[in-house]
Amino acid sequence: MDKRRIYSFGNGEAEGSAGMVALLGGKGAGLQEMTRLGIPVPPGFTITTETCDEWSKAERKLPEGLFPELDAALARLEKASGKTFGTGENPLLVSVRSGAAVSMPGMMETVLDLGMNPDVAQTLERRTGDRRFVWDTYRRFVQMFSNVVANVPHEPFEKALHDAKARASAKQDTDLDADALARLTHEFKDLYRRHRGRAFPDDPREQLLAAIEAVFASFWGKKAMDYRRIEKISDSSGTAVTVQAMVFGNTGPRSGTGVAFTRDPSTGEDRLYGEWLANAQGEDVVAGIRTPRPVAEMEKELPEVHQALLQVKETLEEHYRDVQDLEFTWEDGKLYLLQTRRAKRTAAAAVRTAAEFLRQRKIDPREAVSRVEPRQLMQLLARVFDVKEVARAHKEGRVVARGLPASPGAASGPVVFNPEDAEAQAKAGKPAILVRRMTSPEDIAGMAAAAGLLTSVGGMTSHAAVVARGMGKCCIVGCAALRIDEERNLFTVGGREVRRGDRISIDGFTGDVILGELATQDSEVVEVVQGRRNAASSRVFNDIDMVLRAADTVRRLKVRANADTPQDAQVARVLGAEGIGLVRTEHMFFAEDRILPMREMILADTVPARKKALEKLLPYQRDDFIGIFRAMAGLPVTIRLLDPPLHEFLPETDAIQRAVAARIGMDLKELQERVSAHQELNPMLGHRGCRLGVSHPEIYEMQARAVIEAACLVSAEDVVVRPEIMVPFIGVARELEILRKLIVDEAERVLAERGEKIAYTVGTMIEIPRAAITADQISRHADFFSFGTNDLTQMTFGISRDDAEKAFLPDYEAKGILPENPFAVLDRDGVGGLVKIAVERGRMEKPKLKCGICGEHGGDPSSIAFCHKVGLDYVSCSPYRVPVARLAAARAALT
Ligand code: PEP
Ligand code: MG
Repeated sequence: MDKRRIYSFGNGEAEGSAGMVALLGGKGAGLQEMTRLGIPVPPGFTITTETCDEWSKAERKLPEGLFPELDAALARLEKASGKTFGTGENPLLVSVRSGAAVSMPGMMETVLDLGMNPDVAQTLERRTGDRRFVWDTYRRFVQMFSNVVANVPHEPFEKALHDAKARASAKQDTDLDADALARLTHEFKDLYRRHRGRAFPDDPREQLLAAIEAVFASFWGKKAMDYRRIEKISDSSGTAVTVQAMVFGNTGPRSGTGVAFTRDPSTGEDRLYGEWLANAQGEDVVAGIRTPRPVAEMEKELPEVHQALLQVKETLEEHYRDVQDLEFTWEDGKLYLLQTRRAKRTAAAAVRTAAEFLRQRKIDPREAVSRVEPRQLMQLLARVFDVKEVARAHKEGRVVARGLPASPGAASGPVVFNPEDAEAQAKAGKPAILVRRMTSPEDIAGMAAAAGLLTSVGGMTSHAAVVARGMGKCCIVGCAALRIDEERNLFTVGGREVRRGDRISIDGFTGDVILGELATQDSEVVEVVQGRRNAASSRVFNDIDMVLRAADTVRRLKVRANADTPQDAQVARVLGAEGIGLVRTEHMFFAEDRILPMREMILADTVPARKKALEKLLPYQRDDFIGIFRAMAGLPVTIRLLDPPLHEFLPETDAIQRAVAARIGMDLKELQERVSAHQELNPMLGHRGCRLGVSHPEIYEMQARAVIEAACLVSAEDVVVRPEIMVPFIGVARELEILRKLIVDEAERVLAERGEKIAYTVGTMIEIPRAAITADQISRHADFFSFGTNDLTQMTFGISRDDAEKAFLPDYEAKGILPENPFAVLDRDGVGGLVKIAVERGRMEKPKLKCGICGEHGGDPSSIAFCHKVGLDYVSCSPYRVPVARLAAARAALT
């Protein structure tokens, strides 16, 4: 049997339903469902999306089987409406409207008032006694049909309408009388003839078939295709077409049309929100010819329509348990619904409505989680620019470059080119935008003091990007268009020069660099998290909290944070982190009072000398760990032992080398020789990570001691501590075997000295492909694995995490070689493949081996979905990404 192509609805009965969105499109399914709910909907029928697909594949020929179905559907429609199509004493006019499975607002076509011809017009005049209405309707039809079906351009119609208004001294369309509209209709039909070379079709059936094909064709129009490309919507299937009896908003002042949301789509507030026009048809509201009025004003003027609309809001929200976007028309005071669909909404509205529906128990946690996208949460946490100001900047040509949007937010301020100036600016109360070729750990104080960060080099996992995300600070990296001259305190871009003190703005959502200052504000949520605002007074904070608590009941993955300081740990905890997944201990060595003993330690040429320097570092480390253990009371804290190549800590410039030599009492030449002895050609693949522990066991011994001593001290305060010591950069099982023994021996020594018992674990990072492949051997010596996917990506692809983004990655993305930046979104096939192998092999040896991820991917929603799938136990990410990760982990559990 031929498949069915048409589904009818009308008078409370529908052949389709809400579940048939794929087949009937969003609009068709919505109309069918509303009909079932007893909401007043003009009768009609929907031709399926599959029919559009057939038509496309058959070189745009309507399938034969459609015609008898169409005749039958028209007959049903005539019966339901009590009118006859294109003829008879009570003629039926219809609308022909598009509606694909995934909504593409405004991207496809619609024809209204179809079925008009001179005979129908005459009959309608007689029946309604309203000549003006009839010709207003007719001229609308001719214009829309010409434009949509026959591609006649808009302009000559607009001009004719404009001239008609001028002739009649009419201000608005509604001021034109019947004669003027009749004349206009004939002018419009002439325009059609002139453009198409034949007369305007008067046969309603011919009109209908042409309109159906035009709607099908609009699915393949440029607008719709561009929209699908940008929104990543598949091109498969097509659009459905709904043919529906017209109801008329243009019969006079007691008729009209409007659009509304059942809740405010920008704030989420529970009130009907929308606009309407009296004596108008649908396209007038969006066309911008007349200014529509807010729904609130309807209450006084058209109380019965307003009341009916409120009733519909109730019914639809009760039924769909979600915010709906409505189109409606009222004819002589009687309301009809023409569309309902899930409302698009801002981040704020998404969170607020999900939280409110949850509180009212209208939806369950799973549903709430599916309604908020992780990136919407990111938006609510970030600083924001005023949208109007951004539009103005675009218009004025002040948007001068685009880099990688490394950390969302919006920042404006004077430009500075070094961290000291950034600190000075902050002290002076005018935080700056710190512009650097790239940042390094020494810049940290300046980075913290800056309003935002902008670099010309480096990618999504560069130092600047990682640190900025950790701080919740707006950051753009890899903005190659900037020519930065740090010496002369200026940069040039597109022939313009920006000097220290000039104001710029950076948009961490888009990567746009804008000249001049734009107003911004801290997100309310961040104010609460940082303790500057009371949580109870913040609706958005509480709404987010509500949604995240729902997410917590749905997810399986735990969420931890990467944090190096007690402050970061505290923020992470407020945001719901269930532990620290990575403390990068090296970040602690850059502070002013520590860098000197650190350098002494590195430059020492004997073990006793190194140990002496390490003794000076021990109390600092211990204090840091004490702070973090306290902040994370009761929760696990993974502390990674020293990782980067040592030369990163050594003084580079002549002046600093001189100063260091003087302070540690070393001959300058000697110092310089030792510094250069530490230089490596490939430091990222050099003497770093666990290799340092193998060569200089005393370093890891000191760190293990600091961890366990801190744990003892905090535990004495009756705080539960759960230290996890992590060894970086393991490639060979034997490395871990040796280092584990070293760590355990030192830890046991400390515990014996203090007569304490504290449980701790020793694990490793998996960030070298060889470690992933040999994970079964490695897991024998590990209590846990944590995937360092920054390095693992670098080494799996053989591309530098610091350089690739500026060099060739953009070309790779543009040419489709890589779908996305692999440092931001985990490469599932390659890097992900290794993760999967490592988890499987690791657990072959130890079935309960705890596995997590602490690379930057741990905060990326799609990568989190992958982590869920391969059975990791937790993800760890920057503190401000913890909420996003909680939500993303829950969404991963839903699919
Ligand atoms: C990693 O390599 O993924 C990691 C977390 O370590 P780092 O970024 O400090 O090298
Ligand atoms: Mg690493």
